[in-house]
Amino acid sequence: MGYVFAAPGQPVVPVIGSTDLFPVHRIYCVGRNYEDHAKEMGFSGREAPFFFAKPADAVLVVPEGKTVDMPYPPQTANFHHEMELVVAIGKGGRDIAAADASSHIWGYAAGLDMTRRDLQAEAKKQGRPWDTAKGFDLSAPLTPIRPVSKSGIVTSGRIWVKVNGQMRQDSDIGKLIWNVDETIEHLSKYFELQPGDLIFTGTPEGVAAVKPGDVMEGGVDRVGTFKVQVR
Ligand code: MN
Repeated sequence: MGYVFAAPGQPVVPVIGSTDLFPVHRIYCVGRNYEDHAKEMGFSGREAPFFFAKPADAVLVVPEGKTVDMPYPPQTANFHHEMELVVAIGKGGRDIAAADASSHIWGYAAGLDMTRRDLQAEAKKQGRPWDTAKGFDLSAPLTPIRPVSKSGIVTSGRIWVKVNGQMRQDSDIGKLIWNVDETIEHLSKYFELQPGDLIFTGTPEGVAAVKPGDVMEGGVDRVGTFKVQVR
């Protein structure tokens, strides 16, 4: 017996300073996890964290020092950047307590939760799912993974993204409404986390549209930086 066609390759993210590869299991994302971004999206207050997902093969690896092309996706006229800290899970589990959560972290990346904002707005209005707004091909550009053994546990530090050299989002990981430990606690109530899971932890205020030709350069302190050009 064999596969009826070639089995798809395992999506991977390289590890910084190593030839090792981090195999991606799932990509989870947290919605509205910085107060000023919740406000700019028309919400306020501390609501329980909520989650959505992208396919594992939505990753677009951006090696340090290189500019990687990101295709402008079809079916949108309002393509937004959302700069985020990405947590890479190395040890799975369910019902993980916040106090134990950091032992499940393998490393971190800096990434973009790219969003077709127009499709998302329509989905919200109609009570429809977000998949076409969030889970499209190459919707998750990110740096290689920085192991926690090199970065230490990241609870604060600047998170930023510039477009064509102009600062668009500039905040601090310390401003997360639900910090990384609490996010892992909540997420692991809904899903059994597995090694290889990536968690996009939410974006600060300043989300805005990009168009073909725009260069997005972003980073998270102690984690990494990337450069992507929309094509
Ligand atoms: Mn996001």
